[in-house]
Amino acid sequence: MSKTITPLIAGNWKMNGVSASLAELTALGQALTAGPAPRAIVVICPPATLLAAASAHGASSGILTGGQDCHPAKSGAHTGDISAAMLADAGAQYVIVGHSERRANHGETDELVRAKAEAGFAAGLKPIICVGETEAERDAGQAETVVERQLAGSIPDSEATFVVAYEPVWAIGTGRTPTNAEIAQMHARIRGVLTARFGERGASVNILYGGSLKPSNAREILAIEHVNGGLVGGASLLAKDFAAIISAV
Ligand code: PEP
Repeated sequence: MSKTITPLIAGNWKMNGVSASLAELTALGQALTAGPAPRAIVVICPPATLLAAASAHGASSGILTGGQDCHPAKSGAHTGDISAAMLADAGAQYVIVGHSERRANHGETDELVRAKAEAGFAAGLKPIICVGETEAERDAGQAETVVERQLAGSIPDSEATFVVAYEPVWAIGTGRTPTNAEIAQMHARIRGVLTARFGERGASVNILYGGSLKPSNAREILAIEHVNGGLVGGASLLAKDFAAIISAV
């Protein structure tokens, strides 16, 4: 892991969690404050219904929060959607955009993801911009081409801070992960794309790995060059698993 970038470990609770689940956040806070200070920025992205409470809960233990998605518009007639400003108002500092589940289930294009990231910037949030190939694309030898296309289309031209999460779609929630060499190759490629486009600034962007990250594989994956943290789904739901991943940094 790069020495100049503070690692970031973000938990994506997806559509899981009711108010009782905040007990996991309390337990996580206790775990983080009991031992040595975490060497990572810790972010939890709960469902929007829990965001304000989670932000208040996390404050005393240094746990930051993020939204899981936002609408590109500031406000308006968009029933059921949530704006970046609303997330910020609920205490969020980050917002996940372009998660593969949104790209697949809601037909989100790179163009839309980019607009959402811009909305995040406008609200003062740091977007976590997700990219990643499907299994068919990897099998066809197109993984890097696909990820490069997603990076080019999804990241806005801006001076604002953003995070990239490389999440191979076939590794999400499946228990399967790429080999360390495959992760290293893709992260180096992403770093190359970011520095080519953003210069020095691109060298300091956190590039997270996501996809079946768990306590048993976190240490080796998080040690790979240009892996500057992780985006964690299933294993972020239980405080003890998430704390173990954070302490693997
Ligand atoms: C995710 O959906 O962002 C993710 C990484 O999920 P999981 O950790 O469950 O594979």
